[in-house]
Amino acid sequence: MTDYRCAYAVNASTDADGPQCSSSGGFCFFCEMEPDPTTEGNDDLYNSLVELVNDLSEQHKEVSTICNVVHSMYKRTVQPYIAWTSCSSGLTVDKPEWTKDSIRRHLLRSNQFSFMFTAVVRNIFQSMIVRQNERMIDRESGGVVEETRRAFIETVAEYRKFEAWSASSTRPSKRRKQQA
Ligand SMILES: [Zn+2]
Repeated sequence: MTDYRCAYAVNASTDADGPQCSSSGGFCFFCEMEPDPTTEGNDDLYNSLVELVNDLSEQHKEVSTICNVVHSMYKRTVQPYIAWTSCSSGLTVDKPEWTKDSIRRHLLRSNQFSFMFTAVVRNIFQSMIVRQNERMIDRESGGVVEETRRAFIETVAEYRKFEAWSASSTRPSKRRKQQA
């Protein structure tokens, strides 16, 4: 009999191997240190990293680049000043490490930066188009390979639909503070 599990764990304690932060035991600064919206101040470190992600995304930087920059910025400007108490163990960790895997997981899977996932889908489309181009012409005859041409046209058509959808649905969400 086939054994099933859910693709997305709504209850992280019973479905622990999903791809998102809540299914991972590791520390995630964006998940664990989300500022309390009912209290003033103390959210500058958090917001500066959110703005960093938004700014780099607007510059169309790749996920790996954004991940590296966030990682080094966190290490330098945030990690030395915080402590984290784990919900599951109750233990407090001084200067918790935020790994690149955890940063990447949050950027792509948390929906806080859903435009990042969209950017990855765009990269996949572009990679497919480049690969299809590389196999378009039969070197011997010089003719167009019909199977590749058809796949290429189909990919471009779907890519256009994707771009139309993404233009209408996803934008970096700014959380800049109002100027006093
Ligand atoms: Zn997270």
